[in-house]
Amino acid sequence: MEPGNGQVDPAHAEQAGKLRDLAYGCFSSGHKFCRNVCPVMQVTQNENHSPTAFHANVVAMEQGLLKIDDVADDYVHCTQCGACELRCPNTLMAGEFYRARTRTVDVVKSMRAFAVEQGADRPNWKRWVEATLEHKNEPVLDVPVAQENVRTWAKDLDLPIGGETVLFVDCEAAFYRTSLPRAVAQVLQLAGVEFGLMGEQWCCGGPALEMGYVDQSRFLAEHNLADWRATGTKRLITLEPHDYVHFTEDYPRYFGDDFDLEVVHVLDVVAEAIREGRLELTVPIPRVATYHDPCRLNKRKGIHQAPREILRAIPGLEFRDVDHVTQWSYCSGAGGGLMIEKPHITAAISDQRLARAAELDVDLLVSACVWSERPLTNAGYARDPQIEVRDIMELVAESAGLQVDRVDGHAATTHGSTAAEGAQA
Ligand code: SF4
Repeated sequence: MEPGNGQVDPAHAEQAGKLRDLAYGCFSSGHKFCRNVCPVMQVTQNENHSPTAFHANVVAMEQGLLKIDDVADDYVHCTQCGACELRCPNTLMAGEFYRARTRTVDVVKSMRAFAVEQGADRPNWKRWVEATLEHKNEPVLDVPVAQENVRTWAKDLDLPIGGETVLFVDCEAAFYRTSLPRAVAQVLQLAGVEFGLMGEQWCCGGPALEMGYVDQSRFLAEHNLADWRATGTKRLITLEPHDYVHFTEDYPRYFGDDFDLEVVHVLDVVAEAIREGRLELTVPIPRVATYHDPCRLNKRKGIHQAPREILRAIPGLEFRDVDHVTQWSYCSGAGGGLMIEKPHITAAISDQRLARAAELDVDLLVSACVWSERPLTNAGYARDPQIEVRDIMELVAESAGLQVDRVDGHAATTHGSTAAEGAQA
């Protein structure tokens, strides 16, 4: 039977059945408040890209009116920021934000996975994941992505392999934004935190999962867990928000109780070190700055106080906060694979984010997400006056008196590559 003519294909019926309750919870309410906070909708103004449409598609699929080929592209238009879930009155009325909330991000992930299963792949995502599996790390611009380079950033830092605590370094940071993990490692050393690096570090598998490639994500995760097991690791420090979400939410789903590692984000570790006087920030940074909340840290995991505490501890830095501080924070447009498949939409969302920073009359936008940094940097440089984008940990390192030879995201992107082109390489 061919779905799309009112007759329901069994695979489609099974998929729609899995998401049925979530979809009807949204579809029957019809209030569509989420459109006002959805970063993609704000840019495209296309109803097919709204969280409501993501749920309505499931209902139509259940009735045999649409098939996955008809709607797979709709689901690309989501950064998985989670704003819709927080804005949804169905969540608010339940009164318990994190226990009974609308799960639009899960619907998006599930429908993307179904698209992959049914052969309705998105071309750039497919190339990206194939390249990741080939090299075991994500494709990153024109930089050679290979195991022999995975720790080049740590040259001369005298870091051990393995140990109780391991610093997990994101692919983009390990191969391209190399000054960031270097700054993080030096700050941790200065604060007296003992840690090592992975023996053989593969991609965390998070991006593959976000794009719908579940088996591939799990394959990468299994390798990483085996590596931690082999080196006696019990605690992970992550420096990248997507890794943090993947390790705290998806790895436990993959491995159940076998995933018994503690996962912490470096912002919490550093804020604590400053609070306890183990890390002193003494070198002034005379800039006017605001902070970009990465969606996965703030909206998804509630980490928004630690970075503000850190920024306020930097002498000379004038910090001007956005009005949307907690769960209503703005998105960069870089997450959920959107930048790989639809880079122009990511660019427009980043530009919108920079416009909000410009309203505060700042010269610095501080991020804590290496993936958001590239589109934000491009948007910042395009502004007049320009707004520089820096990672918070590099500022911490500078203020702690460490030398940071920054690798500038703009310099490389203007040399002819985008993330999407990198995927095709
Ligand atoms: S706010 Fe929630 S229930 Fe309402 S339309 Fe959006 S996703 Fe659906």
